[in-house]
Amino acid sequence: MDKIKVLFASSEVSPFVKVGGLADVVGALPVELNKDNVDARVILPLYKKIKIKYQDEMQFLGWKLVRMGWRSLYAGLFQLEKNDTIFYFVDNEYYFNFDQVYVEYVFDIERYCFYQRAVLDFMGDFMNFEPNVLHCNDWQTGMMPLLLDAHFKKHGYHTNVQTVFTIHNLKYQGVHATDVVREMLDLPDEYLRDEFCIKDRAINFMKAGIVFSNSVTTVSPTYAYEIMTDYYGEGLNYTLQKYAYKVSGILNGINDLEYNPKKDDKIPVKYDIKTYQKGKAACKESLQKQLGLEVNPGAPLCAMISRLVDQKGLDLLLYVLDEMLYDGMQIVILGTGDNYYERALVDTANRNPGKMCACIDFDSGLAHTIYAGADIFLMPSLFEPCGLSQLVSMAYGTVPVVRETGGLKDTVTPYNEFTGEGNGFSFANINAHEFLFVTKYACDLYRNHKDVWDKLIKTGMSGDYSWKKSAKEYAGLYSLITGIPLEEEKPEVKAEEKPEPKKAEAKKPAAKKAPAKKSSAKKSAAAKSDKKEETK
Ligand code: ADP
Repeated sequence: MDKIKVLFASSEVSPFVKVGGLADVVGALPVELNKDNVDARVILPLYKKIKIKYQDEMQFLGWKLVRMGWRSLYAGLFQLEKNDTIFYFVDNEYYFNFDQVYVEYVFDIERYCFYQRAVLDFMGDFMNFEPNVLHCNDWQTGMMPLLLDAHFKKHGYHTNVQTVFTIHNLKYQGVHATDVVREMLDLPDEYLRDEFCIKDRAINFMKAGIVFSNSVTTVSPTYAYEIMTDYYGEGLNYTLQKYAYKVSGILNGINDLEYNPKKDDKIPVKYDIKTYQKGKAACKESLQKQLGLEVNPGAPLCAMISRLVDQKGLDLLLYVLDEMLYDGMQIVILGTGDNYYERALVDTANRNPGKMCACIDFDSGLAHTIYAGADIFLMPSLFEPCGLSQLVSMAYGTVPVVRETGGLKDTVTPYNEFTGEGNGFSFANINAHEFLFVTKYACDLYRNHKDVWDKLIKTGMSGDYSWKKSAKEYAGLYSLITGIPLEEEKPEVKAEEKPEPKKAEAKKPAAKKAPAKKSSAKKSAAAKSDKKEETK
């Protein structure tokens, strides 16, 4: 049976290049899908760091001239295989030969216009891969479903390619002047309409992705619901409401090859659910020494690893940080971002030597040692599409304190002292003192109720955060929008339980087994006809 072919397009892909969770997702999901009867490949820009590190392993597939308005620009295509997955890289040094991934907003718009056009030009014969599904991620790829329609499908090319658009963060939308983007993308006038890609008289890449893709996914069910409301909708809530029938939420997983305290070479002492008491104690002591904190096993060590932006609830943290430190908590922050937050955190850390450390850096090694050495992980986010850090922290036996939003709400069940259920702590409102009180409550349990704390750690560590389940959901979605059935999964049969031949039942198409996606298939079919109506 033919595998469903999926091409992922993304501006970040781990382990090649990472700014945030987007990279983790596009680095892990295709690898998991490839274990699961899908032929998933990935295409990303060839940034400077990737070129330097991987150029010897890459194969040059060829080059093309890509049109950008009046200009024709060189685009090279390279290929590399890693983790049984094929990765393609779009080369153009003028656009991508920079140390950082994102350079400057207006230039980024131009860079990703070029990238999107190059991907579509390379797709098919050139890369010897005609996907059934083009899976776009965030604004940097949002115009591709529209461009596919305007430049290819209308002229009889790639007519069978279906599109999925995943929103990892609705806040960043790719908005720019209509005339400039129209020129770079050669957009026909009939597409420059409020119902399509125009929002507030500018072109909005995110909006185009929502309108023109066959299916829209977000990275958690709660976020899928939240973004249709005024508060979380970032101005696109009405568009999302209009296309609600094709929107669904699929939770992210974490890469268990990277985040597993039992096999993690980056942490001082490896541990698992049986040995966590000794293991975490040793990791905590080592972390306290490394960061110049007082070596005190009894002090609750609260950590945050994050981009330092308002989304992450840093205003709530800063408001009650002094009170937290006064309460005896040790605080460790690892992150980079807005100057204001960086300075405010360093300032408080300088005033509290031995109690707080603010590491203004992006350091994945240190991140691992913090996940292992901390007791409590703080995520007071204003909104959180999915959030990976709370999953990683639970896998490492670090108990999360989160605000009830997006993926945090879907993955962290607050501790219930009556039933004993839960894997963390949560608070509902954007209120610094709610955050403080629930963190103090967690610290109280940590200090005085060891049995409860051990149960919380064990519940967190035994959770399944792998990509397996999510990958199955995505595979079901691809199957439903393309109409290509998935191969029936072979049940694991123990030697002593071999089935009798007559028991073999008529095979059902696997796609039908996924109830959540059934409706999205119908929805997607509806989406197609609906869009045709609108384009007329
Ligand atoms: P977002 O995608 O909004 O940045 P997520 O929680 O989804 O947030 O993912 C963030 C990822 O980036 C996590 O894997 C986290 O460990 C990692 N990360 C964030 N900041 C840093 C940093 N300064 N150093 C190392 N890793 C970081």
